Amino acid sequence: MSENRTMQLPPLLEAKFTEIIARYPVKRSALIPMMLYAQDQFGFLSDELLGEIAGRLDLNITQVAETLEYYSMLRRKPAGRYHVQVCTNISCMLRGGKEIYDHVEKRLGIGHKQVSPNGTFSLEEVECMGACTGAPAMQVNYDFYENLDPAKVDAILEQLQQGSRPKPVPVISGALHERHPAEVPVISKRFGIPDSRTIGVYLQHEGYQALEKALKQMTPDQIIDEVKKSNLRGRGGAGFPAGMKWSFVPKDINKPKYVLANGDESEPGTSKDRPLMEMDPHQLIEGMVIAGRAIGSHQGYVYIRGEYRYVIDLVEAAIAEAYAKGYLGKNILGSGFDFDLAAHTGAGAYECGEESALMESLEGKRGYPRIKPPFPAVVGLYGCPTIINNIETLSTVPAIIRQGGEWYAGLGTPRNGGTRLYSISGHVNRPGIYELPLGFPLRRLIEDVAGGVRGGKKLKAVIPGGSSCPMLSADDSVAKIGSMLGSGGTVVIDEDTCMVDVARRIMHFYAHESCGWCIPCREGTTWLRKLLDRFHAGGGTPEDIPMIDELAKNILGRTFCPLGDAAAMPTISIVNKWRHEFEEHLQGKCAYKPAEMISGAR
Ligand code: SF4
Repeated sequence: MSENRTMQLPPLLEAKFTEIIARYPVKRSALIPMMLYAQDQFGFLSDELLGEIAGRLDLNITQVAETLEYYSMLRRKPAGRYHVQVCTNISCMLRGGKEIYDHVEKRLGIGHKQVSPNGTFSLEEVECMGACTGAPAMQVNYDFYENLDPAKVDAILEQLQQGSRPKPVPVISGALHERHPAEVPVISKRFGIPDSRTIGVYLQHEGYQALEKALKQMTPDQIIDEVKKSNLRGRGGAGFPAGMKWSFVPKDINKPKYVLANGDESEPGTSKDRPLMEMDPHQLIEGMVIAGRAIGSHQGYVYIRGEYRYVIDLVEAAIAEAYAKGYLGKNILGSGFDFDLAAHTGAGAYECGEESALMESLEGKRGYPRIKPPFPAVVGLYGCPTIINNIETLSTVPAIIRQGGEWYAGLGTPRNGGTRLYSISGHVNRPGIYELPLGFPLRRLIEDVAGGVRGGKKLKAVIPGGSSCPMLSADDSVAKIGSMLGSGGTVVIDEDTCMVDVARRIMHFYAHESCGWCIPCREGTTWLRKLLDRFHAGGGTPEDIPMIDELAKNILGRTFCPLGDAAAMPTISIVNKWRHEFEEHLQGKCAYKPAEMISGAR
């Protein structure tokens, strides 16, 4: 590969490169967005293109190539003009995602990662794309198509073959619906208002009032106290109190400070940050400026997963509007406070949702997690104090500042204040995204809000808060854990589902997403994937059952970041709660599929 700058780039890409590089104090941060935008233009990343990018960022080719290899969306070979990606992860699988993939494969006559001979189509079976409440789903280039069936797929492919662009979904399916009486709209209150994402509509609906109050009537300490009073906990899964996190940022330090919004939502079953960015990006921007004021930061970044390209465009448009109206930039609202904000695109790596891995990725490197301590509040982005919060967490801040921490706390439980967005998917009648108070009973969420199990079937299992949670059986969910909090992404599984297949599919995801840094995770997830594949195909042995359990337990608590535990916990719960299904597979039977589907694979 050459590092010489010899390429004549199209003017729009040239301008994009210049704009991207200017966003960061360290040039290398521009690497991943530049590679992705260049790939969009040229179809793949050639040696020449990588040399050009390396030259502009003062990097060598090795630095560029080793970073590229980490991100699944970046490719060294051309894809088709229409790159079709079909999700078969858990929420899509439960609603026929694999059948959709098989249908596309048959219709296009190409397999996984293949390109059609005339270069029109390429195909990929992919992990969760954040369309869980619209399952089964696929993407063509960056367009989302949801709630698919074979006829809809045929119509989409037909249009593409004729050279026209089928209309993609305007916002994620399931976010716009008639309000359930149990809902308490706080952060979703503008969902469904025409043009809610524009600053004009936002200003008509309380927009930027909280920022005005925070800048003109409150000190930074008072902002942090208000957030503490609200009992707002992080909505990304870990649940750490947001106000406390902000208070850890050192006050008197001669370094820049950063505010990061984590929009890398990739946990299978979780698709609640997408609608917040699609329909109310100014709420997020306002929350980030207030957070900046609270900790004394003057720069923020919204890290958004690469698959959400149209969302990135919407957030960038909202940022431009906020600059134009004086809600970002210098001397905001005449307060003397400055804050700059930019969106940053990821490029396909679940691990980058972990806060320290996200910062590595934002610095233009592989998304490997960092050793903690030190924690980001003290040593974060570029070694500077940083707060990193989930999109939903930061989107909640304006309402707290406007209406008060005590008001917000009163909406939830004593330990966990307010409301949150629950995305519920799988075998329910009304998959969707609902805003409910913290502590809302899981049973009511499934049976009442989401309309119960589809087709009158019995409930068999529930993933309560994203695929990293232990799996609950129907008894657990109804009796023991009737009021469990959940952490945002609930997946419902009916009585006709093979739990060996569920375990197998979940493990495929974690084996694919393991960054390979530590041995228990890297080797353990790979071995479990192989074992579960063989078992599901009818090639298991009696010894395999305790071995699956033991392997998973040897990952638990022995890995560098939470991904290892996330892989182990559902596996342990499935192999123990549904052991009889594993034993039936040993007899060549699967209660949920015709016998001929269990083929010998030993
Ligand atoms: Fe990487 Fe897995 Fe180790 Fe996390 S647990 S650091 S994802 S190998």
